[in-house]
Amino acid sequence: MTKLRLAIIGAGPAGIYAADILLKSERNFDVSIDLFDHLPAPYGLVRYGVAPDHPRIKGIITALREVLDRGDIRLFGNVRFGTDITLDDLKKHYNAVIFATGAVQDADLRIPGIELDGSYGAAEFVSWFDGHPDFPRSWPLDAREVAVIGNGNVALDVSRILAKHADDLLSTEIPDNVYQGLAESPITDVHVFGRRGPTSVKFTPLELRELGQLRDVDMIVYDEDFDYDDAARAAVASNKQVFVIDKVLNQWRQREVGQASRRLHLHFFAKPLEVLDDGTGRVGGFRWERTAPDGEGGVVGTGEIRELPIQAIYRAVGYFGSPLPGVPFDKKRGVIPNREGQVLRKADPSSGTPTWTEQMYGVYATGWIKRGPVGLIGHTKSDAMETVRHLINDLGNWWRPESPTEASVLELLDSRGIKYTDLSGWHNLDQHELALGESSGRTRIKVVPREDMVEISRDES
Ligand SMILES: Cc1cc2nc3c(=O)[nH]c(=O)nc-3n(C[C@H](O)[C@H](O)[C@H](O)COP(=O)(O)OP(=O)(O)OC[C@H]3O[C@@H](n4cnc5c(N)ncnc54)[C@H](O)[C@@H]3O)c2cc1C
Repeated sequence: MTKLRLAIIGAGPAGIYAADILLKSERNFDVSIDLFDHLPAPYGLVRYGVAPDHPRIKGIITALREVLDRGDIRLFGNVRFGTDITLDDLKKHYNAVIFATGAVQDADLRIPGIELDGSYGAAEFVSWFDGHPDFPRSWPLDAREVAVIGNGNVALDVSRILAKHADDLLSTEIPDNVYQGLAESPITDVHVFGRRGPTSVKFTPLELRELGQLRDVDMIVYDEDFDYDDAARAAVASNKQVFVIDKVLNQWRQREVGQASRRLHLHFFAKPLEVLDDGTGRVGGFRWERTAPDGEGGVVGTGEIRELPIQAIYRAVGYFGSPLPGVPFDKKRGVIPNREGQVLRKADPSSGTPTWTEQMYGVYATGWIKRGPVGLIGHTKSDAMETVRHLINDLGNWWRPESPTEASVLELLDSRGIKYTDLSGWHNLDQHELALGESSGRTRIKVVPREDMVEISRDES
């Protein structure tokens, strides 16, 4: 029987779902899958993106773990595609590869002053508070007034973690260094800015409502933002999500405020113009232009310029994928160019079709690196179904590897001295983190340094 030796790069939800769907799909060939990740632990942004105070979403890890624990997928953690293992290596050992490498960089916000000290990307901050091993252990939380730019859920995660009292995060899995950092924060005011009106936000109602439940934090919304035009009123009437968001915001307009020690302000109709220098190269203020509805659901500038003193700014304007050596990359969209998951390369420019049109056989993409960094974890499942369907149908065009045995991959990694971690290693680390948590009355405390993660996984400590 034909056998598909498949490499999947990226052990986030997209990679794990792709493996699971392939193994369960109807097919007339055997499958053996190796799942690689450059982190020593699996689960991608579910472990290193989803906020620690969202245990229900973090709980998706239980379903992903069940897939891995079945034992029919080999996991190789701490192996980076592009340096530890290359596309040429994969062609020698596998019939095909699926890239599921997600997106971890911050998208740019091109305004003057964004490079000042005290200006941060949301993705960096998220990586810090979620204990990502490749980010600094400490975070400069010395600002009293902070701006967060963006009107999506990541902006809410960042604002919530900044505004929340550290003790209210103690029951979560946050690493000790994160708790200490947040406990010393002098923050009083978090200002969230969105270019458009309250009926155009990308927040989900659940995440928004949660802000109103934060202890000792007042929610501040401004009456001037609720003078709706016809398009906004129509959105409230026709879209359930917008209806709920509008209701939540209007409830906050009626609330008594003034007792809390921290405030979270939502400013709408605010187009970012500039981050102001305090005179020493650090963030000292934020300047924006007031916008107004354009009557068609969009906004136009009004020419009214406003400023606010702040000492730090976080841009939460989206994530962006990273290029992988030897793999086509669309620099504009930050994705691997593909047609329903089949990776495309540029046909010979002299042929007159210099765009991504030619299928790169044997190479597939799924998840955020396929579709762009939008959508929830559940969406990566339907993504994976589409990609796997094409992989199965392309059987006649898979690579023909010279060394397809499972042992040959172990030999390759060993010959390069790569300290990979495997599924039993992940169990070691998982147990270790749970035990750390138990000893402090918490569910889990994450291990952060990469060396420690690897040592514990490989039982070398
Ligand atoms: C801050 C934040 C909060 C979120 N909160 C929620 C939420 O509450 N609910 C929800 O449903 N969704 C949430 N999401 C969205 C969710 O995280 C994504 O939909 C999902 O993780 C995308 O899955 P993925 O597998 O494509 O990418 P990822 O989860 O990013 O997984 C990619 C994996 O590839 C690995 N990788 C990357 N490059 C390489 C390489 N060169 N070699 C080897 N491995 C590599 C990475 O280490 C990572 O493990 C959130 C996202 C963010 C950013």
